[in-house]
Amino acid sequence: MSRPDFPRTLREFQERFAGEDACRRYLAASRWPDGFRCSRCGETRAWELPGRGLWRCRECGHDTSVTAGSVLHRTRRPLTEWFWAAYLVATHKPGLSALQLQRQLGISRYETAWAMLQKLRRAMVRPDREPLHEKVEVDETYIGGPEAGLRGGRQLQGKALVVAAVEIRGRASGRVRLRVVRDASADSLCGFVKATVEPGAIIVTDGWVGYGPLKTMGYRHRPRIQGTPPEASRLLPRVHRVSGNLQTWLRGTHHGVGHRHLQAYLDEFTFRFNRRRIPMAAFQTLLGLGGQQAPTTYKELYGVEATG
Ligand SMILES: [Zn+2]
Repeated sequence: MSRPDFPRTLREFQERFAGEDACRRYLAASRWPDGFRCSRCGETRAWELPGRGLWRCRECGHDTSVTAGSVLHRTRRPLTEWFWAAYLVATHKPGLSALQLQRQLGISRYETAWAMLQKLRRAMVRPDREPLHEKVEVDETYIGGPEAGLRGGRQLQGKALVVAAVEIRGRASGRVRLRVVRDASADSLCGFVKATVEPGAIIVTDGWVGYGPLKTMGYRHRPRIQGTPPEASRLLPRVHRVSGNLQTWLRGTHHGVGHRHLQAYLDEFTFRFNRRRIPMAAFQTLLGLGGQQAPTTYKELYGVEATG
């Protein structure tokens, strides 16, 4: 399956989706990639009812809405506005606040921008099901305090503990998973690995005892014994890079996040990170288009099948 090309800049995007008609044509193409097919009778010919996003079957007269099942259904905002919002959310590297969205699109009310962003964010809640493969770095980080990387005793003391898993792809990083955990116990850490990483994978961690049981759980555990902090980032460079980016994003974009909402922000970070090479898939998922295909298989991310 090949995905259509995707505009690389906002200018290109605005030219391509300049008006409501262009957006509607795109919705129809997303809904019926192989051409219209009536869901009631299977007929392939239809009329598009002007200006309403409805297609009427020429055989049985059944109407199908191109926005059904998407965030755009029965919206009162212009399609162009939704398309631009989804594009910004999908591609904006540090994430997007409601205020930024309001300013970028010239939306008059902050509440409107906020509500749009919330609807788009719903698509980012744990959409990734496929387990991480092969070779994965795992480590924890504290969120919400001034001292990033504080490790002493692994006590929480008001901070949230987040465990991160990042696929090792040569020198690069593959996909990521992030979860708020109660503590750094074996139950919490190994439970996270079990839920997110395929059995048989190589798991690289530091020497913390909380990862000890991994070898009895069907994983090939490779603990790296830790020295001074600078060494820690050398031993687990990918997971440390992700943690650093996450901290920066949470502090910079959202000025800190309460514990109650932290997992939702982790999901958003994960959503964008795992689709950083496939913005088209991110855009479609946000709008609720083409939801039949999960866009984050290894093959779709990298264009090749996973080996081993
Ligand atoms: Zn029909």
